[in-house]
Amino acid sequence: MAAPKVAVVGAGVIGLSTALCITETCPSCSVTVLSDQFSPNTTSDVAAGMLIPHTYPGTPIHVQKQWFKETFTYLFDISNSAEASEAGIHLVSGWQVFKNTPKEELPFWSDVVLGFRPMSEAELQKFPQHQFGQAFTTLKCDCPPYLLWLEKRLKATGVQMYTRRVVDLWDLHSEYNVVVNCSGIGAHQLVGDEKLFPIRGQVLKVHAPWVKNFIRDGDGLTYVYPGIHRVTLGGTREKDVWNLSPDPGTTQDIFDRCCSLEPSLQEAQDIKVKVGLRPSRQRVRLQKEVFSQGGLKLPVVHNYGHGAGGFSVHRGTAKEAARLVRECIAALQGSSSRAKL
Ligand code: FAD
Repeated sequence: MAAPKVAVVGAGVIGLSTALCITETCPSCSVTVLSDQFSPNTTSDVAAGMLIPHTYPGTPIHVQKQWFKETFTYLFDISNSAEASEAGIHLVSGWQVFKNTPKEELPFWSDVVLGFRPMSEAELQKFPQHQFGQAFTTLKCDCPPYLLWLEKRLKATGVQMYTRRVVDLWDLHSEYNVVVNCSGIGAHQLVGDEKLFPIRGQVLKVHAPWVKNFIRDGDGLTYVYPGIHRVTLGGTREKDVWNLSPDPGTTQDIFDRCCSLEPSLQEAQDIKVKVGLRPSRQRVRLQKEVFSQGGLKLPVVHNYGHGAGGFSVHRGTAKEAARLVRECIAALQGSSSRAKL
């Protein structure tokens, strides 16, 4: 069999990182990324990019922890390299604060992030409305630079990237041996996945260079995440809302909530508003499926539905998707050598 041809549909953080893992896992493959949008026009560009996992109720915790750990280790290495600033990856310390002590004082990821500990009384004085808190150091991706860095790495390994809207994955069967579906919320239409739904998120990106520590309310709704150039203020979680237009009332509400956590944000400048649709599911869809029509077959690997936590687990799920692609190729090679006998 000639070099197997793999198409990855989608150029958000999941598609690009999956394409990169495929080039590492199956170096003999020819990989192409097809997407109707690239950075800066994906959901991944809107994200805050903090490595704080979201919990997927339908996926075992040890699997989620493994995905997070692989992602953390990968980005930690980048943060310690000369690539860090171009890739937009940096360590950030801060606090997760709670109005009431949570039932689970030690989240499953507490031994993956660095220096996780309960906040001291002195630290809690900064947050008079909160009773309990956790201090730790994690990683943050500045999303557009990270996506561009991934694209650059892909181009350097010979991956082709084309702007193309895919209407039906089967349309790719005559050009590619394996197709990988990383279409995010686009999978709702592309593969008719009714289990996939949007959770709309609105955030503000502001200039406030004095803010160096992250602050996250334990309810996950209000957060202040400093990046290399701008601070992300959030947010909202609106289930089944598809509207991508910013809402001015919501902008004011987010700003007020963040100022109540960090009053100095009253002086923030150059407020930009962004909206994205988190591709949400009970569990990430990470599995093989074989499409067939008229005796022809097309192996497809799905990797979508990362909801509110795509950045936190992207490398772990990309590695698993690449392993599934390798299995598909091994099966194709096995059947083509059997056919020659
Ligand atoms: P996308 O980035 O949407 O990429 C999908 C790609 O598929 C796009 O390129 C699209 O053009 C393409 N596509 C879709 N349909 C088709 C088609 N038919 N044909 C061709 N191409 C197609 N996660 C974290 O871990 N930490 C955070 O701090 C964080 N903050 C967030 C804040 C907000 C406001 C939002 C909205 C999300 C946040 N997330 C965060 C979640 C994260 O953004 C997502 O989980 C992640 O971006 C999903 O990546 P994706 O590549 O699957 O989707």
